[in-house]
Amino acid sequence: MTYLCAMAGEPRPAIHIVGGGLAGAEAAWQIAQRGLPVALHEMRPQRSTDAHKTDHLAELVCSNSFRSDDHQQSAIGLLHEEMRRLGSLIMRAADSNQVPAGGALAVDRDGFAAAVTSALEAHPLVRIVREEVAGLPPEEWDNVIIATGPLTSPALAEAIRRITGEDALAFFDAIAPIVHRESIDLSVAWFQSRYDKAGPVGSGADYINCPMTRERYAAFVEALLAGDKTSFHEWEACTPYFDGCLPIEVMAARGAETLRHGPMKPFGLTNPHDPQVKAYAVAQLRQDNKLGTLFNMVGFQTKLKHAEQVRIFRTIPGLEKAEFARLGGLHRNTFLNSPNLLDETLRLKAVPRLRFAGQITGCEGYVESAAIGLLAARFAAAERGGGELVPPPPTTAHGALLAHITGGHVETMDAGPRSFQPMNINFGLFPPLAQLPAKDADGKRLRGVEKSVAKKRALCLRALADLGQWAGGARLAAAE
Ligand SMILES: Cc1cc2nc3c(=O)[nH]c(=O)nc-3n(C[C@H](O)[C@H](O)[C@H](O)COP(=O)(O)OP(=O)(O)OC[C@H]3O[C@@H](n4cnc5c(N)ncnc54)[C@H](O)[C@@H]3O)c2cc1C
Repeated sequence: MTYLCAMAGEPRPAIHIVGGGLAGAEAAWQIAQRGLPVALHEMRPQRSTDAHKTDHLAELVCSNSFRSDDHQQSAIGLLHEEMRRLGSLIMRAADSNQVPAGGALAVDRDGFAAAVTSALEAHPLVRIVREEVAGLPPEEWDNVIIATGPLTSPALAEAIRRITGEDALAFFDAIAPIVHRESIDLSVAWFQSRYDKAGPVGSGADYINCPMTRERYAAFVEALLAGDKTSFHEWEACTPYFDGCLPIEVMAARGAETLRHGPMKPFGLTNPHDPQVKAYAVAQLRQDNKLGTLFNMVGFQTKLKHAEQVRIFRTIPGLEKAEFARLGGLHRNTFLNSPNLLDETLRLKAVPRLRFAGQITGCEGYVESAAIGLLAARFAAAERGGGELVPPPPTTAHGALLAHITGGHVETMDAGPRSFQPMNINFGLFPPLAQLPAKDADGKRLRGVEKSVAKKRALCLRALADLGQWAGGARLAAAE
């Protein structure tokens, strides 16, 4: 299909977007706002998913919250602000359909989705096609964004699986909690790999180990068994999970000793704080990002409720004050092993005409998915104009999220079927500040909570300044 390009006055083929969810709707808007024609293919209402209820674009399938709107102290609030500054349709529709929710941005879900749908229907450069793309997009679509989300239709998921060569694209996403490294007490825990093995990229001290006595371990297993768990959706109940990523409480239910012969085995480790005493069991955390700011609790994927996870996991020695960047969970998800498969502008390395956006790339959440849709659109539009767009710096929320998806993850050998896992935006994804704020405006030394607030503020200020430079630079490059 060829459209007349509004700005250049010459016919240009449309950029095709598959999936009109949070990412696809934002992407369509961004491309059209750059004067380029776009065809948005959405399968609803012809075919629905197990979670969607309407035929609106950008339908929110569960909660109506976009989480904190504080752009001075919260990573998700910062992402909101960056998106607003980049002309996001999703944020515009959210702002104009807000409902009271304290410091959070919550929306009237029907008003929100209707606003997104009508803005795209009214745009002269957007054509909405209500059809399932039930296989690989046709060859003549030379610039495609696939944004079909966690519930990508089976026919398309299978086609993607065939070209990526990755095992099982749609499966239970078993997420283990991730902890901010600075909140782990290293006067109790210690760095060491089992038997000091370095591996191809390790140092021999790649894990943080938290030791447990026999009594602590027994109490921990009991707490896991008694803890309050979330239940499966009816449609999830018939999808089996891999044996390699069983929830920790399911393993615990197989026998009191199962965990200490599995992910919590104490072998090959010596506690430097107390070398004569062998731990009865050990909880291990493995570095999760290149920056070394986040650590993943190995084997701790779980369906415990979030509050229960915080309560129970903080009983582990060394984690009493743990701050969680992400809590564990299990749900059906479809996402790529993006660090292996995508280039830095989200193109499939093996088939560069296909770009991916949204939750299928390995971000998590409404806002994060829309933000990756925004970036994918800008990359695709720059390419259509014969140019190239440099990705935003990793000091911005957009850049940090993109870096997590396309390269920030540490690949490991022992993490079950796949170690790359979806993630919400959080400050652990940002490169550390060159200098931590030590004093307040009056020259008073900062301590405790004040220090942590000052650090978050500094990260946010840096992000917005760098985003401004990147967006300005991108505009100049486009004008050249
Ligand atoms: C059960 C469940 C509960 C969730 N709860 C929350 C929550 O409370 N808060 C939160 O922030 N996030 C939640 N999420 C995650 C959230 O839904 C996603 O992060 C977000 O919607 C992803 O945006 P997306 O655009 O990538 O995918 P989606 O918003 O899912 O959009 C994908 C679109 O693609 C369409 N599609 C699929 N296959 C095809 C095809 N072959 N051809 C054409 N169209 C197709 C679908 O109909 C859909 O409209 C939840 C997810 C699920 C599954």
